[in-house]
Amino acid sequence: MNFVTHLECSMTGELYEAGKIHGLSDAGRPLLVRYDLKALAESIDKKTLAKRTGGFWRYKEFLPVRHEENIIRLGEITTPLITLKTINKNLIVKDEGRLPTGSFKARGLALAVSMAKELGLQHLAMPTNGNAGAAMAAYCTHAGLKSTVFCPEDTPEVNVREIALQGADVYRVNGLINDCGKIVGEGKEAAGWFDLSTLKEPYRIEGKKTMGLELCEQLDWTVPDVIFYPTGGGTGLIGMWKAFDELEEMGWIDSKRPRMVAVQASGCAPIVKAFEDGVEHAELWQNAHTFAAGIRVPAAVGDFLILRAVRKSGGFAIAVDDDDIALARDEVSKQEGLLLCPEGAATYAAWKQALSDGRVLADEQCVLYNCATGLKYPMPESNSAIDRTRPIDYSRFSNS
Ligand SMILES: *Cc1c(COP(=O)(O)O)cnc(C)c1O
Repeated sequence: MNFVTHLECSMTGELYEAGKIHGLSDAGRPLLVRYDLKALAESIDKKTLAKRTGGFWRYKEFLPVRHEENIIRLGEITTPLITLKTINKNLIVKDEGRLPTGSFKARGLALAVSMAKELGLQHLAMPTNGNAGAAMAAYCTHAGLKSTVFCPEDTPEVNVREIALQGADVYRVNGLINDCGKIVGEGKEAAGWFDLSTLKEPYRIEGKKTMGLELCEQLDWTVPDVIFYPTGGGTGLIGMWKAFDELEEMGWIDSKRPRMVAVQASGCAPIVKAFEDGVEHAELWQNAHTFAAGIRVPAAVGDFLILRAVRKSGGFAIAVDDDDIALARDEVSKQEGLLLCPEGAATYAAWKQALSDGRVLADEQCVLYNCATGLKYPMPESNSAIDRTRPIDYSRFSNS
């Protein structure tokens, strides 16, 4: 059950041996896992796959874990596609909030932690804005590995507490996620942990790649016209792009690609700026702020990979204001009965913006990624009450 041939530097193409512990390449760039796709395609067909259950682990042939006993399971599922039929019948949300730990970080971390276990690592560490830390904590604890997490001090309370409850050592840091990342990097030798930061090890991308495999399978092995992805470190966007290439090479999909849209918040939009400036790398974003914590990432190691995929696909990068994100969450909740997280709501705000400026059309099939459950985030207050000791005017409840 393994078709990995080698790993490859995403910048220089330099080759690395499979089955060894790897961080970044010697050039300081993400490593990509390569497979014998011909052998993979011969080992499984779409029908066999369709019969399997078990969420993203259904795609085990497409993944790097070699031994079944190293696969860590916490009840993964195939996440649903939900059509926003009141708003636009071509608009679909892929609701990732239903995965273990309530976010799509489960995909990347399940893979990274399973691989860490397979390679004999015992202590993993990472910087997080919340959801990644929660997923790492859960999968590490389930696998019997130690985990240490550093998060910005204003990380949502619920994230810090879920991380702690699920068995990680968690520390608030007076800085942003890149400052937390620095602590993880600098502490490697003395603390003896392995750095599981976004794209600084090769396997989180492979986990997020399953979003692309799953989406294609759900759309009967086709791709949508456009994908709106809330972009922080960009793992998911890069992973999906990799999935489409691998599926095409296997002959499972044709050469059509969705236009990939990287959605960021106006208060932290390094990828949007780089896209608009026409450059290959993004500059560090100063004074990053947005209440969509998951996309508050001032600098991404894989910036050039995000930008390449976006440009090659004919897509674009777009920034939305926090006010519009809040409004978007409100609108989708009230019109569709679907509670999005702020980052997911950002993709809907971006779709609306792109629809009005003509960058997408109303009859194009668009997929929005709702990356986490809306229940983890602060919500607007609701304070209506009834005094049962007084007469109640029941006409106030009627529709008219
Ligand atoms: C991590 C995260 C993102 C960004 O995902 P990347 O693949 O790192 O760009 C978006 N939204 C939420 C809720 C997240 O937790």
